[in-house]
Parts: sequence; C-alpha cells; structure tokens
Amino acid sequence: MNKKQKKLLKRILMALAIFFAILLIDETGLLVSAFGSTGAVYASFALYLIPYLIAGHDVLRKAWHNIRRGDAFDESFLMTVATLGAFAMVLFPSADPHMAEGAAVMLFYQVGELFQSYAVGKSRKSIAALMDIAPDYAHIERDGELVDVDPAEVPVNDIIVVKPGERVPIDGIVIEGASQLDTSALTGESVPRSVEEGSEVISGCVNMTGVLHVRTTKPFGQSTVSRILELVENASEKKARTENFITRFARVYTPAVTISAAMLAIIPPLAGLGAWDEWILRGLTFLVVSCPCALVISVPLSFFGGIGGASRLGILIKGSNYLEALSKVDTVVFDKTGTLTNGTFEVVAVHPEAGVDADRLLFLAAHAESLSNHPIARSVVNAYDNEVDQQLVANAQEQSGHGVIATIEGRKVLVGNDKLMAEHGIEHPSCKLTGTMLHVACDGAYLGHIVISDTIKEDAAQAIRDLHASGVKRCIMLTGDRADVANDVAQRLGIDEVHAQLLPQDKVSKVEELLANAQGNLAFVGDGINDAPVLTRADVGIAMGAMGSDAAIEAADIVLMDDKPSNIARAIRVSRKTMRIVWQNIVFAIGVKLLILVLAAVGIAGMWLAVFGDVGVAIIAILNAMRAMRMA
Ligand code: ADP
Ligand code: MG
Repeated sequence: MNKKQKKLLKRILMALAIFFAILLIDETGLLVSAFGSTGAVYASFALYLIPYLIAGHDVLRKAWHNIRRGDAFDESFLMTVATLGAFAMVLFPSADPHMAEGAAVMLFYQVGELFQSYAVGKSRKSIAALMDIAPDYAHIERDGELVDVDPAEVPVNDIIVVKPGERVPIDGIVIEGASQLDTSALTGESVPRSVEEGSEVISGCVNMTGVLHVRTTKPFGQSTVSRILELVENASEKKARTENFITRFARVYTPAVTISAAMLAIIPPLAGLGAWDEWILRGLTFLVVSCPCALVISVPLSFFGGIGGASRLGILIKGSNYLEALSKVDTVVFDKTGTLTNGTFEVVAVHPEAGVDADRLLFLAAHAESLSNHPIARSVVNAYDNEVDQQLVANAQEQSGHGVIATIEGRKVLVGNDKLMAEHGIEHPSCKLTGTMLHVACDGAYLGHIVISDTIKEDAAQAIRDLHASGVKRCIMLTGDRADVANDVAQRLGIDEVHAQLLPQDKVSKVEELLANAQGNLAFVGDGINDAPVLTRADVGIAMGAMGSDAAIEAADIVLMDDKPSNIARAIRVSRKTMRIVWQNIVFAIGVKLLILVLAAVGIAGMWLAVFGDVGVAIIAILNAMRAMRMA
C-alpha cells in the first residue's frame, strides 16, 4: 500500500468507528430518549454528518470540481447526489429518514475505491516487478578500476563488467568469464543458461555465478531491456474494442441513469402514486446501484492482468486490442526459417564444380554473406574456418528471398537460390540431397553449391499439436525455401498446408488471400527477417524476440521473448481466459445492477442492497479481474 492509500485507509477506519458508535446510540434509542423523537432526527443528522465528511469530503470536492469544469457525470457525482439526497431526507423527519444509509453509502464507496486503487497498483506493480529489469548502472573498467556509469552513456563496443547477482544492463558478447544466467524475467524459462566466452548475452538477465566481461553490441536504448520496457509502457494505450465500448457506455449511461433517477423521484408522486419521500428514496437508491465503477475498473484491469500474466511467460503483448484479437484466432500462419526451425544452418555438403576448390567456394560464400543478417548468412560465415576480411568485399547487396550479390576482389559473386541463378541466366545442376541450396556463381560462371540444413525447434511439433487442441483450425507454413525442404518440415510437424518458394511479397499476397477467406482472425508468426510487411498485414503479428530482427519486433503485435512457438498456444489460452473474465464481469455487473435497479424502482431494494449492488459488485469484479494475472 502506498502513502495515499494508507491515508485513505486511516480515514475510512476512523469514519467506520464513529459511524458504528453513532449507529449503536441511534439504534438503542438513546437519541430518542435524550432529544425526543423529532429532536433525535436532527441530532442523528448532525452526528452522521461527521463520519460522512471524514470519509467522503474528497469525493464531494471532486464532484464539485467536475461540475464546475462542465463534465459532471462521473461516479463521484452519482455518489454525491445520492448521499446528499439521503441526508436531505431530514426534510421529511416523519418518514424514517435515511442519514445512516447516506453515510454508509459514502463509507463503502470509499472502501471500494481503496480496494480498487490497491488492485490496480498491485497489478501495475506485478508488471513493474516483472519488468524490474531496468538496470541503474553499468560497471566499466577505466584504468584498471571499476566505475559505475549510467547505462545510457556506455558506447557500443565498450567493455562492461557484470558481477554475480547483477543484471546485465546492455546487450553484448562475453569476452571473458563464464557463468549461468537467469533469464526468467525475460522468457519465463526457469532453467539457467550457461554462457562463456563468445556467447551473446541479452540485457535483463541476471548473472548468477561468475564475473563476466561483456563487449556491448548495442547502445542501451536499443538493448532488449529498453525495448521491452517501451513495449510494456505503450501497451495500455492500445485499448481493446470491449474496453472502448465500456468507456463509451459509461459516458452515456451515467447521465441516462441520473435522468431516470430524477424522473423516478419526481413523476410518480406528482401523479399521486405515493409520498414524495418514498419515491425520492427510490430515486436515490437507483443512483447508488447504477454507478458503473465495477465495469469501468474491472474491464481494463482484466486486460492489464492478462498482459501482465502473459509477460510472465515471456510473451509480450503490445496492447489489449491484440489480446482481444488473439482470442479469436483460428488460423495460424508460420514462417519456416527461424520460426519453426532454429535458423542455425549447418553445412551438410559442399559440392564444387569440377576444377573448383571447395575452400574457394566457402571463401566466396562467406565473404558475400558477411554483411547479411539472414540466418543462412550467419551460418555460412560460421562454417568458414578463417576470419572474414571485410576489406575484400564491396557493393554487397541482399535480395530478399533470393540471396546476395557482392563484389569480392573485383569479381561479381552471386550466392543464393535457383531464383537468383535463373534471374542472372546461370545454369546449375540439381542436387540429390534434401536441404537448402546455396548456389555460388562468380563473374557469370557457376562454381558449385553448398547444401545447408536447418534443425526443427524442439517444441515446434508440440506447438502445432497444442494449437490444434486449442481449437485453431488451420496451421499453415509459408517459406521462401524449396518445396522439398518445406514439405519435409511440414510433414514432421503436422502442418495442414504448405506454400513454398515464396518471395516476401508473395507471402503478403498469400496472407491477404487467406485473410479474405478466413472466418476468425489470422495470426502470422515470423522471425521477421524479410517478413515485417506480413506481420503488419495479419490480424495478429507475432514475432520471435530473441532471434528476431528489430524490424520484426517493431512491426509485431506480440513478441515471444524465448522464440518458442509453443508459447503461441499459451498466449491464445491467456487471451481466451482474459476475455472470459472480461465478459463474466460485464454480464455479472450489469445483471446484478439491473436486478437491483428494478427492485429499487418498485421499492423492494433499499439503500443497503444498493451499496452491495455498487461496492460489492465492484469488489467481486475486481477480484475476478485479478485472476487474469495468474496464468497457467
Ligand atoms: P523463410 O521464408 O523460410 O524464412 P526467407 O524468405 O528468409 O525464408 O528466404 C527464402 C530463401 O531465399 C532461402 O531459403 C534462401 O534460399 C534464399 N535466401 C534468402 N536470403 C539469403 C541469403 N542471405 N543468402 C543466401 N540465400 C538466401
Ligand atoms: Mg524467415
């Protein structure tokens, strides 16, 4: 509890104590014997005003403030009118006045407010705690001594030192030391990851055992930590349709009930249907029940909880609109490389043409690929035993879905698939092996090919099974790779439909075609190398966060921090659970309120039931909303 909440709690407790003391004096007839039956009414008026003002003075002030600003109709207005009205019943001293109820409504309203602010604070804190990954400082070595600096001031390629127990502040590569990293805050994965010299480390992980010297590869602002924090901070701005609906609903609803309540209080007695005091009281009761706070708070809180719960699993959802969209997904389209496969290719075979040296083939391929970030490119560079000499490479150009073209030692080198070769009119033999082919040509002459193959992610088959089990109708794979590789992967994973040899723009048109025919929503999952446009086009774009490119993480609506496709089914489960909770709250709150409203209008429900209809329902709805935070 924060200071403000503690203060409110103190006020409420004090007001409650006074309230019950007065109630006791009132009910035992002490007031009547002291002041006579009419005098007792005025005495209790004065007495109940004390706890009322202690508990509710700020609500009155807020209502007054809003009226003066010209937007009167909020819940503090409803409460002020209802409670002041209850006190005003003193004007009908003969008709069992309702000061006690007036004070009670205000008291319980404040209890509800306190509870609500506590719940909101708590879920915000749980996200903040999860996201408590922002480092305050980084150690850098200067003249053999460690100094602490603001992480934002550490340049790329500087060396930082991370001691055991500390968080890695900036993304980088280990140059000295070995340790275990706890990545759970980022990925939800509880098994620690071992790192040693040469390993990449991402910021936000906790270094557990050894001292690490890390050469930074990104500035702080582009490190994982900063990117995640940015995503989470912006998430609350993107509201779900249900959420917007509730806000709009409350805007018309509050004036509507105020007018109905006024009519209920005025028309029947004018029509001679009963005493004024009775109908005014019904009108006031009506006002109290109809307060929309249960909805206004619990719906956004449920979404907030869902997003928080998901982030604990390493699933970052950029807004409640995406959570809502995800719950209606029935088609999931996957990119292959880097999404269903690890994207770490191994060279299976090197087939040079007669008279060409195998090492020369690898030398050319690795140099041409040295500037590309494509998983294929990185693997080729890794397979090349020697250092790549960037000086030898000029005009390197990547042609997405085709390969790369570069000038090496003054010769024009092409490295890529059949499409690239066909485009430049270079004949090439076919290869018996199954795998991704990297054809190499130099100055128009075919030199041979390198066969590389990727490994399927451990949980990919499980991911597809889980998706089917959770009711997703179609799992489709799109790839730029060859059909035989694609079919092989699809068959092993149980994918329903495969489309191979697609260029990035073909993927967009394929997804558009699927979108046109889909009933539910379509999610596209990609690692984002080349597929940022598709990610934006799909109803829900899901990107791999650890391996994925920055562009993909920007373009995506949901980011899987640990690159596990099996988290997609979990994300869908989270979204459905959240939507269930949202709808439960909407139906429950509106249902109970309608019931009490009807009972109040016909005079069966009194103020006490109205208090339950408002505060009770709000508390139950908030408790229900907080369930969204606890995820399987
Ligand atoms: P996927 O759809 O499986 O993720 P991409 O669209 O990224 O694959 O690439 C499709 C194909 O284009 C690859 O299988 C490869 O043949 C070729 N390709 C793309 N980038 C490169 C590159 N940098 N070097 C060589 N070949 C490439
Ligand atoms: Mg890809």
